[in-house]
Amino acid sequence: MSKIIASAAIRGARTLVEKAEISLAQALESKGKEAEIAYPNTAYYLPIMLLFLGQRVKKIADLTESLAEAKKLLGPVPQDELWLPYLGDALNAGVAALIAEEIIESLKYCMGSQAGDGIWLGFTGDNILRMQGIKLVDGRMPGFAAIVGAAPTAEEAVELIHGLQERNILVLMAGNSRGVSIAEQLASQGIEMNWDTFLVPFGKEITAAVHALNFAARSAMTFGGIEPGDISSTRQILTYNKDRVHAFVMALGSDQDADNGSQENLLTDEKYATAAGAINFGFPVISDINIPEILPSGICTYEHVVANVPLDKIISRAIELRNITIRIEKVPIPVPYGAGFEGERVRKENMHVQFGGKYTDAFELLRMKKAEVIEDGKIELIGADADKMEEGSACPLGIVVEVAGRKFQEDFESVLERRIHEFISCANGIFHMGQRSIIWVRISKDAYKRGFRIKHFGEILVARIHTEFSSIVDRVQVKIYTDNQKTAELLREAKKIYSIRDDKIGGMTDEDVEDYYSCTLCQSYAPNHVCIVTPQRLGLCGAYTWLDCKASHEIDKHGPNEPVKKGLCLDPVKGQWENINKFVDVKSNGNLKIFNAYSIMEDPMTSCGCFECIACIVPECSGIMIVDRDFTGMTPIGMGFTTLAGQIGGGIQTPGFIGIGKLYISSPKFVSAEGGQKRIVWMPKNLKLEVEERLKPRLEQMGLSDLFDKIATEEDAEEPDKLLDFLQQKGHPVLQMEPLF
Ligand code: SF4
Ligand code: ZN
Repeated sequence: MSKIIASAAIRGARTLVEKAEISLAQALESKGKEAEIAYPNTAYYLPIMLLFLGQRVKKIADLTESLAEAKKLLGPVPQDELWLPYLGDALNAGVAALIAEEIIESLKYCMGSQAGDGIWLGFTGDNILRMQGIKLVDGRMPGFAAIVGAAPTAEEAVELIHGLQERNILVLMAGNSRGVSIAEQLASQGIEMNWDTFLVPFGKEITAAVHALNFAARSAMTFGGIEPGDISSTRQILTYNKDRVHAFVMALGSDQDADNGSQENLLTDEKYATAAGAINFGFPVISDINIPEILPSGICTYEHVVANVPLDKIISRAIELRNITIRIEKVPIPVPYGAGFEGERVRKENMHVQFGGKYTDAFELLRMKKAEVIEDGKIELIGADADKMEEGSACPLGIVVEVAGRKFQEDFESVLERRIHEFISCANGIFHMGQRSIIWVRISKDAYKRGFRIKHFGEILVARIHTEFSSIVDRVQVKIYTDNQKTAELLREAKKIYSIRDDKIGGMTDEDVEDYYSCTLCQSYAPNHVCIVTPQRLGLCGAYTWLDCKASHEIDKHGPNEPVKKGLCLDPVKGQWENINKFVDVKSNGNLKIFNAYSIMEDPMTSCGCFECIACIVPECSGIMIVDRDFTGMTPIGMGFTTLAGQIGGGIQTPGFIGIGKLYISSPKFVSAEGGQKRIVWMPKNLKLEVEERLKPRLEQMGLSDLFDKIATEEDAEEPDKLLDFLQQKGHPVLQMEPLF
């Protein structure tokens, strides 16, 4: 153990504790000791205190106790002649540093100095933790890098970050070097930073690095199911992180001084102390600066501190160090490629050219063909390439993928086609939204400058379809159309095919089949949730119809979709079957004994969190309102979509509320136990437009052809009284129906 690190860590922890003491004194003075203290959206109080002290901090006075504990952990600063053979003192100092940082950061929320802080995101709520943390646990994100400091130049910062994104490594950022932070360097280069792009800037001061560790602590409590509160759980949580969360700290600060060529050490004592805190979690520290190394592995699985690594080698060294398994998608295109780019947007100012949206014709279609007519890997462009397109313009685009395989069936077409969105989105600088004939695609100026051309869409699809579907696809070829007339022509053809596919499922009834399908894909984070997908009720995410599940089962027999024999029908109106009950009992780990597919009130289906829409009761009129994800306004029950979503996720039955896919709204089985579509009283205008084409014929079938116009939107009513007025005025039939309570 290096005494230099130990003394720096202890000195740093002392400084942080002093700063925390000052912040706390100020807060006590201005807010008083009874003032509440909490991070937003978490059930784990101040997670660092909960982890290390078993303390549930609720008010400012509690922080006095936390601070006292931190002080106890501060050992004496070792003198030069002192040799420390173990990490103990530095590790304790690291814990003290984290406690101090948690005090400082949480007080920012109490004092109101955190809100609206430019690019900085601050504390991560449990809702995001649930969505993102699971990716770390199940391996979709192989690990995270907590970067403190800055790269020598903004260009090098971008280079480094792209390398991490390409490997799907989550990047958390805090602190600065000489007043510059890596997040600011990225912002100056127009890089989008948020949870969707795997780039999360916590705060400019080093104290914000504590958010990476309180995130890690909560991951163990949430996913590892470890109940915090005593010494043994502290150890369990730290071990969980060491074993399962492949994280490392990247301490940047190298700076060549132009005048004398000397390398200045920009790691402050406070950064050392924070790094020592991270070592407690088993997270090693890697740096581009010449700091003392701690090589023998003890607490960490590997070395604790590795220094002096050149920036261009730092990622590969970190991966080795933390034993991270990386699956890089090798796609032959001139821009970086990886899941980290999936959620990235391309803004209008940064756009070279766009396709579809509301501007031009655009579609994508995947078709099965005979092997003889497919030349594997062939990519054809019919029309102009991107270099012939005017900057900022909108052009038509048709992507036609043709596949062949001995085991391929026509039913698989839509399953593969739906993946095109994900495959294309993963290219850096390419934006893709929607599917079928509602796609919207943009190529950024930067991607264009790097040499991205239209044929690269084809390269991506050929490569990804071969890796993902090798069991059913032998050959792939892609034809891309940018020619106006040709695209319009093919779009008409494509629309016919889409509608044939829809009719195929549209014509099927639940009575027609013996097997329904289960979907347990979402169990990775909602472990007690299971979707039962029937021909007339698709999965609540809207992505899985009965046919999709069937195809997906045939592609992967051990995948998340299995056929379930429905068995004896116990209640045809509510939609209850003997075997389905037994199946959900087992798959929900005993949480669900009875399940009704067509009821909103009685033992309804559970929700995982990724529902396309939420349907719920409006008590004032015993009607049902439906709200979709894209609607950001207020609904007549006084809750927006996000608030509602928070109430019904997590795999529990919530009578009165169900998560549903959009297609279910026009299904003959739509809450038929409660009277079906006749109960619909409210929908956002856009959703109503979207489902109109299917809902109107259904209403006609029910002899309610005038009902569509009696369904209110946000333009008619945003509160229950107004809604009731509207319904009365229109003579909505729900007013004549039996009340639900
Ligand atoms: Fe499967 Fe969709 Fe249901 Fe999740 S929500 S379990 S992906 S059908
Ligand atoms: Zn889900």
